[in-house]
Amino acid sequence: MTTPNIDYDYLFKFLVLGDSGVGKTCLLYQYTDGRFHSQFISTVGIDFREKRLVYRSRGRRHRIHLQIWDTAGQERFRSLTTAFYRDAMGFLLIFDLTSQKSFLEISNWLEQLRTHAYTEEPDVVLCGNKSDLIQLRVVSREQVAALAQRYHLPYIETSACTGANIQQAVDLLVGRVMTRIENAVC
Ligand code: GDP
Repeated sequence: MTTPNIDYDYLFKFLVLGDSGVGKTCLLYQYTDGRFHSQFISTVGIDFREKRLVYRSRGRRHRIHLQIWDTAGQERFRSLTTAFYRDAMGFLLIFDLTSQKSFLEISNWLEQLRTHAYTEEPDVVLCGNKSDLIQLRVVSREQVAALAQRYHLPYIETSACTGANIQQAVDLLVGRVMTRIENAVC
């Protein structure tokens, strides 16, 4: 019998959620490849990307294997199933700073999340993407601040194009998930 070669302390499944066109796929590729792919052909089905990282807390070093799942266009058909949400520990909830519609849909996404996630209060980081498109911005800081406060969400502005704050958004989510785990253990 062979022993599985597991060289990490935690395996986390994260989901990237939000309306079609907000930049979920670009953001994911920028995070894992460090590149901006401006045109994608939506793949059939659902896809994920992986990354390793080290999280340091309370003098300890935790090796984390991240699996970040993209909806690959399935949200257009409102067909994200319970199976897609299963085992997900954290959620990057994305809207487009140049689209009011994508921002207004955030409440619906949160409702869906709370229905399907493992707890009614899952770890979520709200991301306003396309921050590089300054002239086209239509969602104000005040609007986002009010929403983030109402739902107690940490908020960060990202650009899948320049890579701004993407690492920070994922690190923030990892930190929240790890804090939940550490608090549960203590
Ligand atoms: P998805 O449907 O949410 O996965 O969105 P995509 O990742 O396919 O991106 C939709 C469109 O927005 C594409 O044309 C991307 O090139 C563009 N896009 C995505 N993120 C950014 C960004 O941060 N800045 C700019 N300028 N364009 C972006």
